[in-house]
Amino acid sequence: MALTDPSKRLEAIPPYMFAELERKVADKRAAGIDVISLGIGDPDLPTFPHIVAAMQAAVADPGTHRYPSNRGRAELREALARFYDRRFGVTIDPGTQVIPAIGAKECIYNLCFAFLDPGDVALASDPGYPVYTGGPVLAGADVEVLPLLPELGFAPDLEAIDSDALRRARLLFLNYPNNPTGAVVPTGLFERAVALAREHEILVVHDNAYSETTYDGYVAPSFLATPGADEVGVEVFSLSKGYNMTGWRCAAILGNADAISTYWRLKTNVDSGLFEAVQLAGAAALDGPDGPREEMNAIYARRRDLVVAALREIGVAVEPPKGTIYVWAPVPDGYTSASFCEHVLEEAAVVISPGSMYGPSGEGFFRISLTTPDEQLAEAVERMREHLR
Ligand SMILES: *Cc1c(COP(=O)(O)O)cnc(C)c1O
Repeated sequence: MALTDPSKRLEAIPPYMFAELERKVADKRAAGIDVISLGIGDPDLPTFPHIVAAMQAAVADPGTHRYPSNRGRAELREALARFYDRRFGVTIDPGTQVIPAIGAKECIYNLCFAFLDPGDVALASDPGYPVYTGGPVLAGADVEVLPLLPELGFAPDLEAIDSDALRRARLLFLNYPNNPTGAVVPTGLFERAVALAREHEILVVHDNAYSETTYDGYVAPSFLATPGADEVGVEVFSLSKGYNMTGWRCAAILGNADAISTYWRLKTNVDSGLFEAVQLAGAAALDGPDGPREEMNAIYARRRDLVVAALREIGVAVEPPKGTIYVWAPVPDGYTSASFCEHVLEEAAVVISPGSMYGPSGEGFFRISLTTPDEQLAEAVERMREHLR
């Protein structure tokens, strides 16, 4: 064993599938080719001004400068409870049913360590956000992937889960509006998840990163609005995407009070809470006007329509998503996810993500992110039209 060898649990994480594509992009850029990336999902526009102003005031107040409490400032917990009531019709006790998180990523990772032992299983949407599989593996547990089936509206078939996996399962990760497929929650799925969780004593973790990023009049529900959900589940709400706040690390866990208390116990051993100025800015975001978010969504909807129209012209069958910042589409005949993304890079100097990056059931698809500035996105779309038709 060498000095710098990683731990076995780190070795168990699958290698980063984007590495080869990234190397090719770097080579092209070094050769002076202007490569446009539609790969990463990270809002390009700035955080809304009223949130920045609240942060400026909060950071100037020495009362925010010390170690935060891991339970969070009352201002943020109460703002989250008000928001959940107003937005989703869900009642949250700000004393016991909500704790701020340092981003949804931290929260999901730490939930794995709070609830999983070796031999336990996490049920993870496939394709899905990589932490649903990486988190359990790092915690020494097993992952059972649940294919999201296009014919079920990108729901997993909960009836088809392997019985041994179900017996050992302790966590179920769901995420709607869904990254990477752009699907919104199929009718009845949350209800079926509550029933499954009750029967098999599984904690449902609903990753709600995109409820505020929706189009065409679609309004996304909270999982916690499902009858019985707070008996069997928690929801991770993130301000990252909906409020252009990815760099701020501002999220929260809400729902079942006992589960949140267990998460808190783990968390007090791992981190020291969310900077209180960020907590106050987060409260200002949640209490603030809806206008800036509506304008943002109108921009994404316009970009989405541009991308969908161009893809259809090059022969890709794709439906415009009702939510998220992604267009998910099948690769043309004769390609794999990886070979199509390479082809697009070679021919059009545009980076798109292979669906296989998000899990085995992502094979045969690719993902385009809508978080590239209008002009660059238009140029990328034009190149794809020109070179791939
Ligand atoms: C972007 C994203 C996150 C990350 O949220 P943070 O709060 O920035 O950590 C979590 N889940 C999904 C599905 C995402 O797409």
